[in-house]
Amino acid sequence: MKSQQNPASMKEYNLRVKKYLPGGVHYNFRLPWEETPIHFVKADGSRAWDMDGNEYLDLYARFGAMIVGHGNKEYNECLKETIDRVLSVSHCDMDAEALELIAKFIPSAEMIRFGLSGTEIVQNALRLARAWTGKNRFVRFIGHYHGNADNIMGGRAPKTGDPIPSDYVGDLKGTDGRAKDSMESQSYLIPWNNADILENLLKSKGHEIAAVITEPVCVNGGSVLPAPGYLKRVRELCDEYNVVLIFDEIITGFRMGLGGAQQEYGVTPDLTTLGKAIAGGGVPVSALVGKKEIMQLLVDKKVIHAGTFNGYPLGTAAVKATLEILSRNNGQAISQMNEKMVMIHEILKSEADNAGLPLVIQGPPGCASYHVCKDVLKNPEEYDFEIMSLDIILNNSLLKNGILVSSISRMYPNISLNEDDVEWFRERVRNAVIETKEI
Ligand code: PMP
Repeated sequence: MKSQQNPASMKEYNLRVKKYLPGGVHYNFRLPWEETPIHFVKADGSRAWDMDGNEYLDLYARFGAMIVGHGNKEYNECLKETIDRVLSVSHCDMDAEALELIAKFIPSAEMIRFGLSGTEIVQNALRLARAWTGKNRFVRFIGHYHGNADNIMGGRAPKTGDPIPSDYVGDLKGTDGRAKDSMESQSYLIPWNNADILENLLKSKGHEIAAVITEPVCVNGGSVLPAPGYLKRVRELCDEYNVVLIFDEIITGFRMGLGGAQQEYGVTPDLTTLGKAIAGGGVPVSALVGKKEIMQLLVDKKVIHAGTFNGYPLGTAAVKATLEILSRNNGQAISQMNEKMVMIHEILKSEADNAGLPLVIQGPPGCASYHVCKDVLKNPEEYDFEIMSLDIILNNSLLKNGILVSSISRMYPNISLNEDDVEWFRERVRNAVIETKEI
């Protein structure tokens, strides 16, 4: 299954690419587990094939964005029709349907604006929060990731002494500074899942805090669930101190379920950032959604939100097609995907038990993580360097055995996941687990 255009082996191809592309990847977060970056020539359903003809079960899903399944006919047809009809106009006639679908499913989506990346839309949310409250700083949590902007980087694993383990993804040189410095200038970086800590901070500094931003399920910190009642308490505290609550649902939105984590936990934030799966995985779209009165600041020209490609036809078409596909029959596609994924988790866990490898699997089925350790992580702070290092060993063994996972330990399925894929996983995972145990 070699590509027509690239008959070279992946090794040779990588030498060619690395001459110009730093590390052979366009994204530092791929460096930890891709010493020899993989280049694909074909993908179908839940499978993908690399240049050397190796077949993988794709639980990487473009960092969680790919939700509709590779080669999804309905999705591709919608994109093709858009290319032929309105590709290069600034905006097209599909906004209404795309927006109405988002508003129907996401509880906080009274109004909606599109962008391209999660990184930029988070910055727009912070800007709106500052303008709305007239305050300047924001609260963020250790272990949460909100994009690749200077003011919000860092804060992963304090036990390593470094905000993001620099051995893996690169340190923060060239940004505003390490977490400590940016904390001094813009944000307070505090532990998650502890409402008392947030309450104390708001008591003393609430007068200068515009926003609290959180992943409602901390997928980036190891798929850690919020403690019972935690998100509700955060909501109450934000109301009490006139602070805008921002849920970053760039991963959980349309992956955890149609209404995201906010629907699951019954907590409605003031603003929500969406991205990744919202456009199915084939093209980039992000969205900032929220309360009408806050979003009105954009209409009143009190706050700027701009971008040359915002609302581009291919993106809008992708959102419309994705949400139509996901919402059909009461969101059956996502529930079926989750069922299959639970089967995969059970197989992984039982093979690990058989091999005597300590392993936990945690988080919602659509964005769960495995961890090579004994106890479920109750806080992203517990996701330390030691666990990450073991997770990477399992990641690399899975990869060698034809199972591709994402960001070290996350397993992102798409809705085409079927019984054959579960069997494929079953047949290959034993080797991967045994290899990991032996290292
Ligand atoms: N927020 C969260 C929760 C994310 O997981 C990510 C990306 N992994 C971002 C923001 C940034 O999105 P993007 O990579 O599209 O800039």
